[in-house]
Amino acid sequence: MINEYRNYINGEFLANTGGALMDVRNPATHELLAQTPDAPAWVVDQAVEAARKAQPAWARLPAVQRARHLRDIAAKLREHKEMMARTLTCEQGKVLSLARVEVDFTADYLDYMAEWARRIEGEVLESDRPGESIFMLRKPVGVAAGILPWNFPLFLIARKMAPALVTGNTIVIKPSELTPINAFEFARLAAQTDLPAGVFNLVGGTGAVAGAHLAGHRDVGIVSFTGSVETGSRIMATAARNLTRVNLELGGKAPTIVLADADLELAARAIHASRVINTGQVCNCAERVYVQRQVADELTSRIARLMADTTYGDPIAEPGVHMGPLVSQAGLDKVAGLVERARAEGAVVVQGGRRAQRDTGFHYEPTVLAGCRGDMEIMRKEIFGPVLPVQVVEDLDEAIALANDSEYGLTSSIFTRDLSHAMKACRELQFGETYVNREHFEAMQGFHAGRRKSGIGGADGKHGLYEFTETHVVYMQHG
Ligand code: NAD
Repeated sequence: MINEYRNYINGEFLANTGGALMDVRNPATHELLAQTPDAPAWVVDQAVEAARKAQPAWARLPAVQRARHLRDIAAKLREHKEMMARTLTCEQGKVLSLARVEVDFTADYLDYMAEWARRIEGEVLESDRPGESIFMLRKPVGVAAGILPWNFPLFLIARKMAPALVTGNTIVIKPSELTPINAFEFARLAAQTDLPAGVFNLVGGTGAVAGAHLAGHRDVGIVSFTGSVETGSRIMATAARNLTRVNLELGGKAPTIVLADADLELAARAIHASRVINTGQVCNCAERVYVQRQVADELTSRIARLMADTTYGDPIAEPGVHMGPLVSQAGLDKVAGLVERARAEGAVVVQGGRRAQRDTGFHYEPTVLAGCRGDMEIMRKEIFGPVLPVQVVEDLDEAIALANDSEYGLTSSIFTRDLSHAMKACRELQFGETYVNREHFEAMQGFHAGRRKSGIGGADGKHGLYEFTETHVVYMQHG
């Protein structure tokens, strides 16, 4: 029996999907997992209307009460952790251990944003006049739209929904067509709480129809999007028709600089882990390495050894593998094409470099490419797979110049034992984040934001929370 899911609008799973159903398949086995709705424009309208009607009463609730609803959903997620984790693994391909971390992190994120309820602040401003008070209020935007990618599909629901709801907005979420099941299961859990109807709505569908209609809806106050640069730019153009605010978390091409004085074992392990986690499909993982000449061979061979020991396969049938498949045939073809062209441009395959020889699953061998140059496509385009290109540099200045010469500006990292080198990199790297001597992950209290084509605005922490608010200044003459 294949599960069929329904859009969740105004607190109900609606029997009429308004259109066709879309197949969702397991990227490791190609097995049909479920069918989810392909919402046409009028269904998206229904969801936005439900969110619009629910918003004033939701915003009138004290923030601590709104926060309580987020905590209730977090508790439900923890209760159903194993089911949610398996759902993520089956539809997206990440290994179960990572899927479990994603469920925990999502619940923690809801709790973390709930903590902000008593900390949302306006301002009192000094007036030029006697008998006048000036207040800056912080208010919700109204209806938020969350359009999601497939790589951390559950966590990204929370990253959009939690700050939106705690600040008094309601939301319509559209998950990726590749990984919608976890979102419908999330809605099922949310529906088991007493979250008021219309506060959280979910519509399945394609980007071209449901996504574009949502982004262009005049009753949406903010479109919060995570995904590729190309789609982000399209969404911005669509939203511009109504001058709707956008928050865009887009692609990355994270540079990792390794200097001769670095702890090479630490650097190799962190870079390898970053390229293997979620099969390299993470926006902030190491996408290109700049290593100082004296240690280039040593670092490259350490990473190559770790890659050679990396096992991959179907994470359900072969538990214990380090890596699952890529999410889709298109993802696999893109990675394979980038490696092929890199070889033609002169890159040397140190490890891997081929599609895996298996009957099923979109698998690519963990790969290390040496001899890369800054003008090669593989050093400039997002790979989003388990492939690491390495370029040799003479010094830190050259590494920083190459790192900054990119369309992307999300995350970056450096490995060095010299504090002055680390500080110089932090001052001169033009990225939203820099990790020094550590793995490639952000914390929920930070601010995950990209420069250049990596995005507009950001997520997490206080600054991420305030992305979902507007200011309203009140001038009150009372003297
Ligand atoms: P994608 O851009 O292909 O799709 C993302 C979402 O946009 C999907 O829900 C899709 O249906 C929708 N969409 C497509 N066309 C649309 C349109 N015209 N109007 C409205 N919606 C539309 O991205 P993806 O392949 O799902 O995700 C991978 C990308 O996401 C990578 O580039 C990765 O770097 C990026 N990403 C960034 C971050 C970050 O925090 N910066 C986090 C995760 C992923």
